[in-house]
Amino acid sequence: SHRIMLGPLVAAIDQGTSSTRFLVFNSKTAELLSHHQVEIKQSFPKEGWVEEDPKEILQSVYECMERTCEKLTQLNIDISNIKAIGVTNQRETTLVWDKETGEPLYNAIVWLDLRTQSTVENLINKTPGRNKNHLKHKTGLPISTYFSAVKLRWLMDNVKEVHEAVVSHRAMFGTVDSWLIWCLTGGKSGGVHCTDVTNASRTMLFNIHTMDWDAELCKYFGIPMEILPRVRSSSEIYGLMKSGALSGIPISGCLGDQSAALVGQMCFQDGQAKNTYGTGCFLLRNTGAKPVMSEHGLLTTVAYKLGRDKPACYALEGSVAIAGAVVRWLQDNLGIIGSSEELVGTSYGCYFVPAFSGLYAPYWEPSARGIICGLTQFTNKRHLAFAALEAVCFQTREILDAMNQDSGIPLTQLQVDGGMTSNKLLMQLQADILCIPVVKPSMPETTALGAAMAAGAAEGVSVWSLNPDDLSEVTSEKFEPQINPEESEFRYARWKRANHCYCLSLL
Ligand code: ADP
Repeated sequence: SHRIMLGPLVAAIDQGTSSTRFLVFNSKTAELLSHHQVEIKQSFPKEGWVEEDPKEILQSVYECMERTCEKLTQLNIDISNIKAIGVTNQRETTLVWDKETGEPLYNAIVWLDLRTQSTVENLINKTPGRNKNHLKHKTGLPISTYFSAVKLRWLMDNVKEVHEAVVSHRAMFGTVDSWLIWCLTGGKSGGVHCTDVTNASRTMLFNIHTMDWDAELCKYFGIPMEILPRVRSSSEIYGLMKSGALSGIPISGCLGDQSAALVGQMCFQDGQAKNTYGTGCFLLRNTGAKPVMSEHGLLTTVAYKLGRDKPACYALEGSVAIAGAVVRWLQDNLGIIGSSEELVGTSYGCYFVPAFSGLYAPYWEPSARGIICGLTQFTNKRHLAFAALEAVCFQTREILDAMNQDSGIPLTQLQVDGGMTSNKLLMQLQADILCIPVVKPSMPETTALGAAMAAGAAEGVSVWSLNPDDLSEVTSEKFEPQINPEESEFRYARWKRANHCYCLSLL
């Protein structure tokens, strides 16, 4: 049959908290040609625990690859045009596997998981002045349940198989990127054990100034350095696909999902920012070549390093644990909405603070818990659901305020992306609550695009130019604020009171 001629194509694996996707882009136009998506099961074995199955994650990647290749073939697109594959992933989620058998030694402990709360409290109590920012000068992060080191420590202390594998030098630690790259490049027969600087910067074992694992941090958490993956840049050839239809293609891009979205939104300049609405919500602002330490509860993180000899770029980040997850909770736990499309209307004075996993930025309080307040006889499930959407917007407002205070230069518009941004009502609400325009690119898969760009730009691949002059113009949709600022302030103040009077008063 007739085959369509195209420029070189670049693919991306986007392994998120709620689903896995595989996407193929045209490197000349950044056009998305085909993709496939598979949901990932999350298990909640105890209160506060969140796990996923590493084999299911890997299987979902293979399935998405196969199905996307089939779809491309149906479109008469030759898959041999795919020149590189990038990986982007849920960050911090922690895995340990046996390098001899290739088997995971426990489920993946998901970033949201709270099982390490008491460990974290003990660690903080032991620091001078009970200071959760004790390691911030090296890591850019507060001591929190969120980051990988404490999860890894828990695995070593509580899972016999992990302990034994560590003692007998068979254990490999990794975040989801490392697990996938190791498996895809051959696993127990020669797989490459690596991670990139952005993923490494979320473990609390990585020094964001020296850009390497830090012996002192590893000692602090009692982690043997031999189990850690090698840290590489976000754009270089790590290894080749070992099997399947894409066998032989280089894996040459790797970025944590929030970094990938920053790249995919083309936020390459100091001061540019984006907010991604997925399971959680993550606002990152590019701060250029220097790490900026926040005075207002934000994280300092590595934004990207696009090539071995390229400089690292840093970002300030405001992370919100629960965003899309609150919609899923309304569906799964309360059963009060069918599909997320049913979210319409008003909250009628009802306020919802979904502090299910404690509060992240700007508070970093693992013991905070959620609240719904302002109920009347009149309140119904639609008001509750709307209050949940508003909560996502109020939490974003909190981190945007912190970001503006830290940088001294207020953002004048917000670039957005992620699964929740398909909800126009939410985007309008967000513009109303922030009192600045919200801008959403028409191609919503910015996270995958960022990973594809990193892969396509790698030395030895070089099919994608990251020169700003060569990047294609992005079409977008803009949501302008429509309510008056006083109304907006009033609602925000009410929500903040709900948060401070209850969630934070539990401490
Ligand atoms: P992740 O990368 O964390 O897996 P996604 O970017 O895929 O997340 O977004 C999925 C999340 O977005 C889910 O938590 C889901 O509840 C939420 N979501 C998806 N569509 C909508 C919608 N139309 N309205 C509100 N929430 C939505």
